[in-house]
Amino acid sequence: MADLLIVGGGIMGLWAGVMAERVGLETVLVERDVIGAGASGGVLGALMPHMPDRWNAKKQFQFDALISLEMEIAALEAETGLSAGYRRSGRIMPLAKPYLRTIALRHEQDALVNWHSGDRQFHWHVQDQFHDGGWLNVDAAESGVVFDTLAARVAPRPFLAMLASHLRRSRHVRIEEGQAVVHIDPVAGHATFADGSSLSFGACILANGVQAFPFIDELTKVSGVSGVPVKGQAALLKADIDPGLPVVFTDGLYVVAHENGLVAVGSTSENTFENAASIDGQLDDLLRQAADLVPLIRAAPVIERWAGVRPKAIGRDPMAGRHPDHPRIHALAGGFKISFGIAHRLASAVVSQIMGDTDQSLPSSFRCQTHIELLSKEAAK
Ligand SMILES: Cc1cc2nc3c(=O)[nH]c(=O)nc-3n(C[C@H](O)[C@H](O)[C@H](O)COP(=O)(O)OP(=O)(O)OC[C@H]3O[C@@H](n4cnc5c(N)ncnc54)[C@H](O)[C@@H]3O)c2cc1C
Repeated sequence: MADLLIVGGGIMGLWAGVMAERVGLETVLVERDVIGAGASGGVLGALMPHMPDRWNAKKQFQFDALISLEMEIAALEAETGLSAGYRRSGRIMPLAKPYLRTIALRHEQDALVNWHSGDRQFHWHVQDQFHDGGWLNVDAAESGVVFDTLAARVAPRPFLAMLASHLRRSRHVRIEEGQAVVHIDPVAGHATFADGSSLSFGACILANGVQAFPFIDELTKVSGVSGVPVKGQAALLKADIDPGLPVVFTDGLYVVAHENGLVAVGSTSENTFENAASIDGQLDDLLRQAADLVPLIRAAPVIERWAGVRPKAIGRDPMAGRHPDHPRIHALAGGFKISFGIAHRLASAVVSQIMGDTDQSLPSSFRCQTHIELLSKEAAK
């Protein structure tokens, strides 16, 4: 019998483990393959804030998460002696047209109002150019460039390894790799695994990425699909660059400078695909666009090409918290393109709920209940 069963060893499941350890829940975290086998084991690691305009609860949640992540990582790095490859290196976005500069100047003011925490102010600077020869092609930035000082990056695999290392020395959380959940009895609180073994639990967190959706669908009274996979391809390059350079972002294309001469380029966004793991010409196109945008990586060899599937919930926002029909079952999924920046805060809210606290920190569009309501509306159409 476990107080808590966590299904999935990606960024969501591992943070759930960290939060469970903090409150002393006797926890088993099962991963059907190995830690990081899913979407979390990629190469990009961009931590991108939402736009600073039209502020709302979900933007505030993500902002607070991006601020607190820095301290969380520093503490875990100190404890484990491992690096998560985190740096608040900021982000630059080229402005190709004059009207984009006009909009960006408005956002510069929005950031002054909305992007502050205590005595820390983050900026959306509009500049004529970015002074780091060769990092951004000046031809792409005819109307200037935005330099955002809030964005950051993390190295996904070292980050996961650090979280797993912390959990492996924890008192209350046990990680079991190679253990796939095949069935959940939400009423009895009982999980059955692929090898025929089983486990009773007080509460269960479904943090198994895109596979969380079919589990939730099976447990939900209304029929429908609570989320879908969106494939992405990305690449890792080796280049002699300053690891402090900001993330370059435009039109879905990211170039992320990491430590040790590594640069990540991503990502395709594919709603239909035949093979979730395959690499194809769409990544070559992306690499060509990246080389146009960032001259410093033109001669850089590609050392890895990678593909994964992002979990996108029916409401597009993350899906977290108690299942409305089953009080033992909690969702922690649907982080889509922003999981790395918010997983710790989502996990904290979910574990607080399990502990019986009235945690109000989750925006309503994030709640599992809200997604299930959308499912009901779809089913009624
Ligand atoms: C190309 C690409 C680039 C991306 N770039 C970024 C980025 O820059 N920043 C960002 O924040 N996000 C990014 N994302 C999105 C991010 O990777 C995902 O949102 C995130 O990894 C989802 O984490 P997760 O823990 O929910 O799922 P996963 O990482 O997929 O973890 C789920 C785990 O559950 C396991 N599992 C599944 N079924 C079972 C079962 N039945 N029993 C036990 N275990 C099971 C799987 O093996 C897997 O390890 C990117 C995604 C892609 C594909």
